Amino acid sequence: MTDIFYSLESEVRSYSRSWPVEFVQASGATQTDSNGTQYLDFFSGAGALNYGHNHPAVMKPLVEYLQSGGVLHGMDMMTPAKREFLQTFKDVILEPRDLHYKVMFPGPTGTNTVEAALKLARKYTGRQHILSFTNAFHGMTLGSLSVTGNSMKRQGAGIPLTNSSKIPYDDYLDGETPDFLWLERVLEDSGSGVDKPAAIIVETVQGEGGLRAARFDWLRRLAELCQEHEILLIVDDVQAGCGRTGTFFSFEEAGITPDIVCLSKSISGSGLPMALTLFRPELDIWSPGEHNGTFRGNNPAFVTATAALREFWADPSFQSRLADTIDTLQSRIEAIALSTSGAGVRGRGLLTGIVFDDPEAATKIAAEAFREGLLLETSGPQDEVVKLMPPLTISAEDLDRGLDILEAAIRTVTGPAVDTPTATEAPAA
Ligand code: PMP
Repeated sequence: MTDIFYSLESEVRSYSRSWPVEFVQASGATQTDSNGTQYLDFFSGAGALNYGHNHPAVMKPLVEYLQSGGVLHGMDMMTPAKREFLQTFKDVILEPRDLHYKVMFPGPTGTNTVEAALKLARKYTGRQHILSFTNAFHGMTLGSLSVTGNSMKRQGAGIPLTNSSKIPYDDYLDGETPDFLWLERVLEDSGSGVDKPAAIIVETVQGEGGLRAARFDWLRRLAELCQEHEILLIVDDVQAGCGRTGTFFSFEEAGITPDIVCLSKSISGSGLPMALTLFRPELDIWSPGEHNGTFRGNNPAFVTATAALREFWADPSFQSRLADTIDTLQSRIEAIALSTSGAGVRGRGLLTGIVFDDPEAATKIAAEAFREGLLLETSGPQDEVVKLMPPLTISAEDLDRGLDILEAAIRTVTGPAVDTPTATEAPAA
């Protein structure tokens, strides 16, 4: 039955290799394959399904819109669906956070919003160079790839990836070298030979690069440095945004305001393609049509995006329930990591995971979890991290069940639990 995938589809396919079943249905945190086997989904479409699969609050307005004969494809034309999205985004997200961004619709994917951000930063500053971080991931088109770290992905470009340099992400060096030492020096030294960059692009938590989470102090210092040197700060919130870390934008708790923000993945609330590039109004120097794309006006995505903002983000109880879910997940995985030799916790919020000294462990654990009915992927340059991204809306029972499967899979692969210090033996915090 599945022969056509193997015979016709390109070798480039990847998830269908880890999970070689045909998924036929999906609801909430569950996907069902063609044999009727159910899987708990701790993958959430790599962050595109933060509210789970087919949430009724987004599906109902979508079905009504489709039946109403509303516009499906709209370039960047005005439609009621787009108007309602813009108004709701302003009312529910921007204004309560005192953010005064202009909203640009690039093409509907993460890499599209990153390309738009890089292009705008270069156009605005008149500079070419962009700085990005070790282990960053920003997308697969040439501009985004040039600011991405992973060597296997970069190699695929087939041409030199230029006009960008990598600088160490938080905790990349020895823990002794002061943060940003190199950057501060070269920016102040006219003899450094390092071109002043147009922008620095950063993920607050590196989704693909191993779930490293930057400290808030580190992010604040980065923002300060950018301001001092008139370098634009771009936060790529494609994966960490839309609530993944507990707040709508992943930079909120750090108290910084980036010049440009990239959003995609869960902004549509439904898995439909959609992306936004947000920037300070002064940066809005685009000429009409200077950057465009056929699929900027994906109206069904606007409908579901509006529904998700109203259903989840307009309701303050959503964020407090999310905080509880994060607490449960964090305390469980801390306990699991503590009782597993060579394991540690990575990430922040519901963009989190367990890193293993043995670089093969995470891949084996993900495979074992799949056999037991749990979908999760790995992250990091050597796939050394088991990545946990359950839906933000997951029930306490499903979360527990998924974590039980994960714990059992870890034991199967790494051996029995090791003794953990008891409360009395544990060192004082
Ligand atoms: N930026 C980040 C931080 C991402 O995690 C991703 C996708 N994993 C992208 C950009 C690219 O998004 P897309 O795959 O939709 O192009």
